[in-house]
Amino acid sequence: MTSSPILTIRDLSAVFPDNNGGLQALERISFEVCPREFVAVLGPSGSGKSTLLRILAGILRPTAGEVDFASHQQPRIGMVFQQANLMPWRTVLQNITLPLELENEAQAVSRARELIELVGLQGFESNWPRELSGGMAQRVALARALIHDPDLLLLDEPFGSLDALTRERMWTELSRIWQARQKTVLMVTHSISESLFLADRVLVLTARPGRVKLDLKVDLPRPRTDEMRYTAHFGKLARKLKEAIE
Ligand code: ADP
Repeated sequence: MTSSPILTIRDLSAVFPDNNGGLQALERISFEVCPREFVAVLGPSGSGKSTLLRILAGILRPTAGEVDFASHQQPRIGMVFQQANLMPWRTVLQNITLPLELENEAQAVSRARELIELVGLQGFESNWPRELSGGMAQRVALARALIHDPDLLLLDEPFGSLDALTRERMWTELSRIWQARQKTVLMVTHSISESLFLADRVLVLTARPGRVKLDLKVDLPRPRTDEMRYTAHFGKLARKLKEAIE
């Protein structure tokens, strides 16, 4: 990628207070993300992946280090978590317009309808969250995260609670949405296949404290297809990631 970074992370550390001198979750993490790049952060449980996303989202302050956005101001950020966290008393459409509540309603609804189409939920605008499958709920969460046209989309194991088949279908969907909307994405996952199917680069974090152990370029052509997952090259990349994790 030749363009200059949209996001630069330098020597980022996070220590949580405990009774034992502090728990180091992240240790001097540095990396860059270019515009429209899809970066996956892969690591074992407890390696500080969620902590990293929370720092980037501005929810948590790092203990040391810097997060620099090229725009020099806090960018618009969309976030999707493992659970969709939809408001049960609001319909699909009303959940998606939620972040735009204070803006022009007609405009919010028209943007939400566009996104409903993008994520493949036409016909479900008036349904309630309890009527949705896990995959559908995550589509709503994705549409909600996209509605204010974020500069950076942060995904924290967004498909972690879905069954394997739905999860794989969502990879194709997310890939398509990412290409259509040209977003910069940082996605946390502990699935090697997921990271290779979706990302341009995979950062592997070590077990606690999280450090960047490998920054792997995923040189698989796009659009990614299911067949690619059975190729020798995919297997080779998967092996590199697996070795880095262990
Ligand atoms: P991951 O997402 O890779 O599973 P986390 O970022 O959730 O890892 O957590 C990294 C480490 O930091 C874990 O040991 C976790 O228990 C600890 N941790 C996370 N958040 C807090 C917090 N708010 N207070 C104390 N410890 C925390």
